[in-house]
Amino acid sequence: MTSKRMDHYLESLLVEEQFDLYRAISRFADEELADQLLAWERNKMLVPDDVIEKLGEMGVFGLPIPESYGGQGGGLTDLLLAGLALSYQSQSVAITAGAAVSLGATPVFLFGTEKQKSEHLPDLASGKRIFAFGLSEPGRGSDAANPEVVAEQVGEGFVIRGEKCWITNAAWASHIVVHALTDANGRNGHRSSCFIIPRDREGVHYQEMEGKTVWPLSSTGSIVFDSVEATSDEILGELHEGFYVMATALNGGRLFVAALALGSLAFALDKVRGYVQQRDQFGGPIGRFQRVQDVVFEMDLVLERNLTWMIELGKRYDQKTLEREQAAKLKIDTSRAASRLLQDAMEVCGGVSALDEFGLARHAADLFVTRVGEGSNRALMTQAVRPLLPDIADQLQ
Ligand SMILES: Cc1cc2nc3c(=O)[nH]c(=O)nc-3n(C[C@H](O)[C@H](O)[C@H](O)COP(=O)(O)OP(=O)(O)OC[C@H]3O[C@@H](n4cnc5c(N)ncnc54)[C@H](O)[C@@H]3O)c2cc1C
Repeated sequence: MTSKRMDHYLESLLVEEQFDLYRAISRFADEELADQLLAWERNKMLVPDDVIEKLGEMGVFGLPIPESYGGQGGGLTDLLLAGLALSYQSQSVAITAGAAVSLGATPVFLFGTEKQKSEHLPDLASGKRIFAFGLSEPGRGSDAANPEVVAEQVGEGFVIRGEKCWITNAAWASHIVVHALTDANGRNGHRSSCFIIPRDREGVHYQEMEGKTVWPLSSTGSIVFDSVEATSDEILGELHEGFYVMATALNGGRLFVAALALGSLAFALDKVRGYVQQRDQFGGPIGRFQRVQDVVFEMDLVLERNLTWMIELGKRYDQKTLEREQAAKLKIDTSRAASRLLQDAMEVCGGVSALDEFGLARHAADLFVTRVGEGSNRALMTQAVRPLLPDIADQLQ
């Protein structure tokens, strides 16, 4: 078997302890996921419960959570390494853990009251409890600062009405962090609040979204809030500052999405390297053709460059020096390059790429999500350009 090219780069980029962590999760993915994925997908299953339990036992759900709250006491970089290791086999499995941590537990850690942290973090860090991230709505995707879901103040509490969609991990979620309008007259970005709502509360109706062609094993739900009561103790962060909570969570989330794209690219590179050395046409291996080598070369170049970039940004995130635009740029570039290169990889392997058992089609489909998830690339480009054109920043569309 061809050794993993990603391991070669990570070994020199990481300290020994981090490389060992990556290798342990990678071994789990290779030994306990790789051979099962096809059957799970063909049987239209979601990630099996025992896989979630094992990820919990390995500490993946608590990687960046302090030990005092039951976590592993690491940083976002550790979570990115888990993302690389898992998404090499399956983005679906990787996002199940990744969303639970970067979009579920992390906002509680960053913005929760002491009571909220002690009530939820130990179970979130062990994977016994999962929070889902309720930002997107049928009518509000990129324009998420202005939700149509409303939390109306009634007496001391609130009543939440409306629908959230595209909610990752909805099937397993004990709670949804719901982003809802609380002050229609507030300044843009200061009109909403986040509420931690148990999924089994009266008036909360969940159903799995049907017909999804990407991340097949990942749960993606639509959740209706039919006059759901909430208390002010359930607000996460400050009243009317919910968009800040959501946007902060997405910074780490975008680095994780880049890790998903790199895991897929790393798998495809190894697959192509192996295949083009074995497949003979015109009297010898197809890897002897320079046009085939160009694809292998570019995949390797992007893998090394963007892995190095991602590890650097992970460090900056952990040191609290990461700028919002930096996370966006890494996600945009990695997701675009990896999805383009997956098409090239499939092309140079030929017709066999169209078979699900070959593995490339799964990664090519999943890479689409990395282009639109956690902020669509084209909407994020507008954000990233804003600091470059400060004199006309308010006119940019
Ligand atoms: C599998 C999956 C899982 C997801 N999980 C979650 C989740 O857990 N929680 C959650 O809240 N959401 C989740 N999402 C939703 C995701 O975050 C949204 O799809 C994303 O924010 C884009 O919103 P939209 O799809 O409504 O696209 P729209 O906002 O309708 O945008 C469509 C397109 O219009 C263009 N566009 C829009 N705005 C601009 C702009 N300002 N400048 C330039 N171009 C623009 C872009 O090309 C964009 O792709 C998930 C989505 C998928 C597919």
